[in-house]
Parts: sequence; structure tokens; C-alpha cells
Amino acid sequence: MIRFRDVSKVYRRGAAVRDISFRLGRGEFAFLTGPSGAGKSTILDLIHFQTLPTHGEVIVSRYSSKRIRRRDVPKLRRSVGFVFQDFKLLERLTAAENVAFALRVIGTPRREIKGRVQRLLSQVGLAARARSRPSELSGGERQRVAVARALATEPLILLADEPTGNLDPRAARGVFELFRTVNRRGTAVLMATHDADFVRSHPSIRVLALEHGRLESDSAVRLATAGAAGVPGGSAVGGDA
Ligand code: ADP
Ligand code: MG
Repeated sequence: MIRFRDVSKVYRRGAAVRDISFRLGRGEFAFLTGPSGAGKSTILDLIHFQTLPTHGEVIVSRYSSKRIRRRDVPKLRRSVGFVFQDFKLLERLTAAENVAFALRVIGTPRREIKGRVQRLLSQVGLAARARSRPSELSGGERQRVAVARALATEPLILLADEPTGNLDPRAARGVFELFRTVNRRGTAVLMATHDADFVRSHPSIRVLALEHGRLESDSAVRLATAGAAGVPGGSAVGGDA
């Protein structure tokens, strides 16, 4: 569903990412790790077609970076939800209005909006806070609103760029558990984090590890090799792009 083929993104001062190849299949969950500056945000921006590769090819759903037309980018983005470290909520709107705004942008019929907002906020455990503004919510609650908004388009993929970076450990766990729930319902999740301890504490989750713009390791690839030797886990390698 996501496929990178020898992808590099080079700026005048140097490469943000170089020679990256991996696949993420339908319904998978993976961490994208690496220290600050390793290239995590660049990878997520490439998947969102926020930026195009200098070399290689990015394929997301049925769109390729080599062939996508400008007018298809909004269509692609409907299948890719995005959550940020700093939430990016509209501060003057309530939680419900923030989610409703996203639904209006994609042309949801007016009469459906109220019900869908309620369902989305319930999904993230915030039905009771629908009328609160971001300034009245905790960090964890704000991030849940951002997740509800990202799910408004019923995306195939949820991208999260350091989504727990501004949260205390307890709220971070809560938001992470929400991602797991979203994933169990069928949405693929790719979560960028530089928090190596957090990643280590979830050993069953696939890890794509970046270092200086290169993909240093992909735990699914190691599992696949082990699988060939008779250890279960080979199926962790993603499906088709
Ligand atoms: P991370 O998210 O892992 O911290 P980034 O993907 O943001 O890393 O950045 C990777 C590298 O690419 C950094 O050295 C950064 O300075 C550089 N970079 C990112 N975006 C741009 C840009 N628009 N122009 C120039 N350099 C950039
Ligand atoms: Mg980043």
C-alpha cells in the first residue's frame, strides 16, 4: 500500500533521506525511528506527497510520485490521515467544530456532519468534551481530537509525526493505545518517534530505523529472514503497494 523504491530527497545542503526502500502493507503498524534530523518527517511528507522525491519512486495506494497529477493530490490525501506533535487544532473552534471542519472540507453532506462528528469523537473517547476548545483540553485530549479529525476521511493510512512528543508518559500511552485501536480496525499506522525507550517497550511492533537519512534497519526484514529459517513472523513483511 506504501512502497518506497530507492527514494532520495536531496536539498542544496545535502540529502534529507537517501536510497530508502521499504513497503508498508494494508493494516500494518510500524514505528519510524531515529534521532532528530534522521529524516523521519521527510519520509512522512513524501508519503503525503507534501514533497516529491529527487530520485526513486514513492507509491501510495494507487498513486505514484512519477505519475501523479496535481489535481489528484487532494484525493490521495483523503486516504492518508496526518497527526502532528503540536496537534495543529484551530484554537477558536470547539473539539466538535474542529472535526466538523474537516468533514466539510471533504464535502460531507450537511445533514450527516453532526452524527459523524459524534461518532468520531466517541471513537477517540472524547464524546463528553465535544464543546470544549483546545485551550480547555489536556495535551492528550487535544491529540485525541487531532486523531478524530485525521480519521474523518476514513483513511487507509494514519501518519503520526512525533504524536506523543508533547505529552506526559501517561497521556502518551493513552494516545498510543488509541493508535493501536485504530490499527485493529484496519487502518495502517506509521508513527515517527525519536523515543527509543518507548519503541523498545513495544518489541512486537515493526521498526523502521533511520540514521543520517538512511534506513539502517527494518525489523520486518530480519523477521522475514528468521521466518525462512522456521521462526514465525515472516508474514510481518507488508503486502502490495
Ligand atoms: P527528523 O524528522 O528525523 O528530525 P527531518 O526529515 O526533518 O528529520 O530532516 C532530515 C534532514 O533534512 C535534516 O538535516 C534537515 O535539516 C533536512 N531538511 C528537512 N527539510 C528540509 C528542507 N525543506 N530544506 C532543506 N533541508 C531540509
Ligand atoms: Mg521530524
